[in-house]
Amino acid sequence: MKAKMKKFPSKIAQKILKQYKPIWAQKYLIGLADWDLNTYMPEGGAKARGEAVGQAESIIQQKYLQPELQKDLDRLQNLENKTIYEKALVRVMKREIEHYKKLPPEFVAEFNRTASEGQIAWRNAKKNSDFSIFRDHLAKLIKLTLEKAEYLGYKNHPYDPLIDEFEEGWTVKDLDKYFESIRTPLKELIKTITSKKDYKPEHKLEKAKYDLEKMKRLNHKILEFLKFNKNYSRLDTAPHPFTSEMTTTDTRITTRYSEADFRAPWTATVHEFGHMIYEVQGDPELEYTPLGEGTTLGVHESQSRFYENFIGRSKPLIEKFLPDIQKLGKQLQNATTDDVFDYFNMVRPSLIRVEADEVTYHMHILIRYDLEKALLERKLKVDDLPEAWNSKYEESLGITPPNDARGVLQDIHWSMGVFGYFPTYSIGTTLSAQWKHFLEKDIGSINDLVSNNGISQIHDWLKKNVHIHGKTYDLNNLVKFSTGSDFSSKFLLNYLQKKYA
Ligand code: MG
Repeated sequence: MKAKMKKFPSKIAQKILKQYKPIWAQKYLIGLADWDLNTYMPEGGAKARGEAVGQAESIIQQKYLQPELQKDLDRLQNLENKTIYEKALVRVMKREIEHYKKLPPEFVAEFNRTASEGQIAWRNAKKNSDFSIFRDHLAKLIKLTLEKAEYLGYKNHPYDPLIDEFEEGWTVKDLDKYFESIRTPLKELIKTITSKKDYKPEHKLEKAKYDLEKMKRLNHKILEFLKFNKNYSRLDTAPHPFTSEMTTTDTRITTRYSEADFRAPWTATVHEFGHMIYEVQGDPELEYTPLGEGTTLGVHESQSRFYENFIGRSKPLIEKFLPDIQKLGKQLQNATTDDVFDYFNMVRPSLIRVEADEVTYHMHILIRYDLEKALLERKLKVDDLPEAWNSKYEESLGITPPNDARGVLQDIHWSMGVFGYFPTYSIGTTLSAQWKHFLEKDIGSINDLVSNNGISQIHDWLKKNVHIHGKTYDLNNLVKFSTGSDFSSKFLLNYLQKKYA
């Protein structure tokens, strides 16, 4: 408690934190309900669960909009000599409150209704690979999203307030600059890789079947190697792997299994581990405060991608578990470390974003960014979207989807009315390379650390430079604070060049 006083020494900040605690509790329970919904809840529970979470969310809204809390935040804002934590407290809470104030409840209700209907239509459209089933829903969601942008307010572009929801402070101007910095270099790198003499677009291990129980045990062994704390987390199965962050002492992860392609459950587990450790290594002194969780989506993804790509796909990790890999199935018994490494790191232009490799992944995001921006600018008509999608894939990756299910209908985001989210995947992956650069400068190569039981040193570096800060800084300020440099794609480009060119 004493330490907490140091971070939030003023009486008014203490009062605000007291008012925040019931909000925290609602969020905690929503997180738990969400985890359960996506893992063990019987299907019949869906309706009541939706109702309960909706009610809990409206309690949060009421608490945020209490006039007393807003007055207290103004008082804290006007206080001189605030600590950085008190400043961040004002910033984070005012953002939430502004959001609730700007969007009329009737509008939010209509938006949510349209989005639930949109998801059902999208599922149906995807199943039948028929865009026309989803078309009207998407048109309505775009219209409502533009209205939402008006309510939230913007200076230059309706996309600005949308991206800001996910990546605080970012605008179309920043995104354009960022994406232009990677567009051509990556396109050229893909060309270099795919035109190499020994380039193979397939790998024999992709189709190798694995024993489910053995793979599950292997995942737990990998987690143990990563010093996974069973007191603070657990691993379960879910169709779309995710992490549920409740507190620093309870953050849960999931993975998925199929018959073949053991790379998928392996990388998903390590990816979600990265999201998990960000929360578990958070500052206990920030617990129960609005700063006590990972900051933006981009920073969160920078942690999952860090563990997935630099540790999960690394040669020393594969080498360590090669005997286990060989026991996974008949077709794997003669696999070598190099085989598995090549399989884990093969670059191949493909149609599906979630299956993409480190290099082509960004092209998938670029395509979505270009298209969603054009839709919101009304430069692209909804009717022309499938064709625009296909020609972008042809232009960027040299392949055309055979149908809409494997093309424009593959992602759920737009059907939920979520625009401005995709860029954070790319930003996070790029940021992970920046962390790698500075971590290696400080404590040496990640490969060596993985080989020589240096996992704790990696965790500690990320704890000190990223995890411990919670929401105290947004992405740009966190990078600046921890590395002294601005966010930049040059670290990613250098890393990919070195690894693949
Ligand atoms: Mg992720």
